[in-house]
Amino acid sequence: MRTAICPGSFDPVTYGHLDIFGRVSLLFDHVIVAVSRNPIKNPLFSIEERVELLKSVLTHYPNIEVSSFDGLTVNYAIKRKAIAIVRGLRVISDFENEFRMALTNKKLACHVETIFLMTKAEYSFINSSTVKEIASFGGSLRSLVPPVVEEKLREKMKNLPKS
Ligand code: ADP
Repeated sequence: MRTAICPGSFDPVTYGHLDIFGRVSLLFDHVIVAVSRNPIKNPLFSIEERVELLKSVLTHYPNIEVSSFDGLTVNYAIKRKAIAIVRGLRVISDFENEFRMALTNKKLACHVETIFLMTKAEYSFINSSTVKEIASFGGSLRSLVPPVVEEKLREKMKNLPKS
């Protein structure tokens, strides 16, 4: 069985992420969407909330599993017997960081490949930070995230302490 992992923060999941997951699910037998705990990033949603949201929007993919992990992505890939780490590429500025990470991961585990899928043009501008910024100003999120994510974002923004 060929397993791939799609690691990320997914804070929160967007239509850009979902497009990548759908395409990866056609290429591998089993796909693990792996939510990184990485507290340095100071996420808006807790790890449990991010996992829950991902599960709720991925129910119609029988070969996609959602999980979370601590530590190095490559170690989690090895633990889960994944043969590939799949990342999405949007803009040129993604490339430098992704290239560095892919080379580092190759050094750490030479049998785990990193595969990049190019974003679809209509999703190339979407990222979780922009989504959160738009939500904080009450803007429309309809074309950026699924309705359940929009709802959770609105709730979260309402309950954030005023600065
Ligand atoms: P990270 O903090 O690991 O970059 P993200 O949640 O921002 O986590 O992204 C997870 C993965 O999804 C990354 O590979 C990123 O490039 C990809 N991704 C994010 N937004 C998009 C998008 N709009 N189109 C395609 N891929 C995307």
